[in-house]
Amino acid sequence: MTGFSPQPTEVGDQRAEALRAGLADVRERVARACDAAGRDPAEVTVIVVTKFFPASDVRRLAALGVRDMGENRDQEASAKFADVKADTAGLRLHFIGQIQTNKAASVASYADVVHTVDRLKLVTALDRGAAAADRRLRVLVQVDLDPARPAATLGAVATAAASAGPARGGADPADVGGLVAAVQASAALDLLGVMAVAPLGVDPGPAFGRLADVSRAVRAVVPDATWISAGMSGDLEVAIRHGATHLRVGTAILGSRPTLR
Ligand SMILES: *Cc1c(COP(=O)(O)O)cnc(C)c1O
Repeated sequence: MTGFSPQPTEVGDQRAEALRAGLADVRERVARACDAAGRDPAEVTVIVVTKFFPASDVRRLAALGVRDMGENRDQEASAKFADVKADTAGLRLHFIGQIQTNKAASVASYADVVHTVDRLKLVTALDRGAAAADRRLRVLVQVDLDPARPAATLGAVATAAASAGPARGGADPADVGGLVAAVQASAALDLLGVMAVAPLGVDPGPAFGRLADVSRAVRAVVPDATWISAGMSGDLEVAIRHGATHLRVGTAILGSRPTLR
């Protein structure tokens, strides 16, 4: 299968129809939020998060014209995308999960973009892995936006965290400058910008506002690092209002994920 144009899905493929409807719904939300924020929707890329879902869904999404897919686990991503990437032109795999240092070389061998660089050790490991695979790797620094949690919200946070939300992670904003310098000094990594997951159980607006501030500080040093990866199914409008350039959307397009895998 080659080419970028959306292709007709097979007649009677109800899953493909559901994905098409989910995509249309999300694109409509993006358009409306951009309108409200006075932004051009062309500045905002939807990365479709396919974690937990099978390679057949990735192929359906590719046939619907999606080129940016997100995954959060090394084993699952490498297995799922090995075939799909080989026969689907232009697919970009975004790695959006926490990376153990011993998995970094593997991720660096196939990911197109890594959103979750949050410590110096990982910069070194990804750089080595990309160099060993003879490729360049584009990365974002993940920022921890958790405010000091007031005691009153701890219960709510713990409950939300237990309900299969994405793993936290991210660098303290004070450490972002050091990470940016390390990426700049690396041999095989290119800095695209910053990424964050909104803290659970609190208004995401102020958090995304802090991310915009961190992005400004990073761009003062690396003007090309313009990506702001923020916003998921539940908070993409708020992220767009605060300048997100890349949304990571799973549930709103693919439906709820199974809780076990
Ligand atoms: C799973 C995940 C998403 C997608 O979340 P939805 O709420 O399903 O849209 C986005 N970002 C990260 C880091 C994730 O792990």
